[in-house]
Amino acid sequence: MNKFEAIIIGAGPAGLTAALVLARAGKEVLVLERGEYPGSKNMFGGVLYSKGLHELIPDFWDKAPIERPVTRWVISALDKDASFSMEYKNVGYAKAPYNAFTVLRSKFDCWYAQQAEEAGATLLTDTVVEDFIWEQGRVVGVKTGRDEGELLADVVICADGVNSLVARKGVIRKDLLPEDASLGVKEILAMPAESINRAFALTGNEGAAYTFVGAATQGIPGGGFIYTNREKVSIGIVIKLSSLSKMSKRPEDLLEDFKRHPLIWPLIKEGENREYLAHLIPEGIQNSSKSLYKDGLLAAGDAAGFTLSTGIRVEGVNLAIMSGIAAAETVMHCGEKKDFSEKELSIYPLLLRKYGVLADIEKFRHAPHFLKNPRLYQTYPELACQLGESLFSVEPGPKKGLSEIVKEARQGKQLSRFDIIKDIYAGWRGLA
Ligand SMILES: Cc1cc2nc3c(=O)[nH]c(=O)nc-3n(C[C@H](O)[C@H](O)[C@H](O)COP(=O)(O)OP(=O)(O)OC[C@H]3O[C@@H](n4cnc5c(N)ncnc54)[C@H](O)[C@@H]3O)c2cc1C
Repeated sequence: MNKFEAIIIGAGPAGLTAALVLARAGKEVLVLERGEYPGSKNMFGGVLYSKGLHELIPDFWDKAPIERPVTRWVISALDKDASFSMEYKNVGYAKAPYNAFTVLRSKFDCWYAQQAEEAGATLLTDTVVEDFIWEQGRVVGVKTGRDEGELLADVVICADGVNSLVARKGVIRKDLLPEDASLGVKEILAMPAESINRAFALTGNEGAAYTFVGAATQGIPGGGFIYTNREKVSIGIVIKLSSLSKMSKRPEDLLEDFKRHPLIWPLIKEGENREYLAHLIPEGIQNSSKSLYKDGLLAAGDAAGFTLSTGIRVEGVNLAIMSGIAAAETVMHCGEKKDFSEKELSIYPLLLRKYGVLADIEKFRHAPHFLKNPRLYQTYPELACQLGESLFSVEPGPKKGLSEIVKEARQGKQLSRFDIIKDIYAGWRGLA
């Protein structure tokens, strides 16, 4: 039976990072990927924050298939036919060292896998890992769906995403519950670059990232997003999995309604559908650093629950990359000690802390609870748009002051001052 120093399950950002770092250190590492090619099964909203990857592959933007540097961030409360937005624009983000890029995973993951292979990692695609191989209470390898598909290793890194084997087999963390995840559905629309620039008021190769709450999901907890790529636009919605059973519409119908919203349609009307994708986002499942490793086994990226979903944005790829680095360094440490037991693997949480992963997860641990508040998805977006209407309309008779406008809007929504104070406090606790 073949034996490797490390087997990595999953060729996403977490697994490929661990493979790259281990291969550079001369380790014999095998990456197993169920997809036909890396990225074929993967989807995300579309923004890759550049800092983590830049440390690993300096100036990666000169070589990687990135789409556009994001210079404009827009967050909008969306009502039936109005929106109230906050925009942040920074033209400095269009220059090195950049801040974030829009990316299409089918291209990006392939390129990233190539970097790991060039460094010496072996990649086996079309290979589903079905189970672990155990010996005296420790993981010593994996069983794949291939003939003679049992493979041994000193250590197995589970980087197989949100629906990880570590959860399904109940090894490291519990299986995903509906309240622990959101579902993202997304379309990729082909559009000429000039049409994208015209519709989104962009120049050259600058990109934009839009987030919407309110009518984007028709008041259901979640939100909508639009990201501009070179000649494609990514548009999608994210909805709490626990809301699905209470919804009268299917997620794909909600996305279609979002696309047809009178303020959204003019932006994307020239787009032609190229891809339709759906994927889960883990939320708040990582709450114990003990649930990251077992004898002979580590979890990284989404498999370990390292995604930040703060309502304003979903951030997971950079956490996957940083946790991949931490996992690889842990394996190298254990290799030096010739001991892959929990005792030596216990440096993993320390390295995760050093790279900021656990600090971020802990800092935003109250965010999932805050984001369950239904007022965020209906009452407040409507209130914001109502305020906008009062501020920007002129009626006959004396003008109303701001406090009067707020009071009237509040009374119409049966929203007490106490509710607002409570929600601001919860938001501060969850996101500040
Ligand atoms: C709708 C949506 C929007 C998002 N937007 C953003 C964003 O804008 N920015 C951001 O940073 N993050 C975003 N994220 C989060 C981000 O996509 C994830 O956090 C990130 O992809 C995690 O990387 P990973 O390597 O841990 O897992 P994945 O990218 O999920 O990779 C796991 C890999 O393992 C493979 N695999 C799974 N099971 C097996 C098996 N049994 N055997 C072999 N292979 C297997 C899969 O095919 C896959 O290639 C978004 C997520 C969603 C769903």
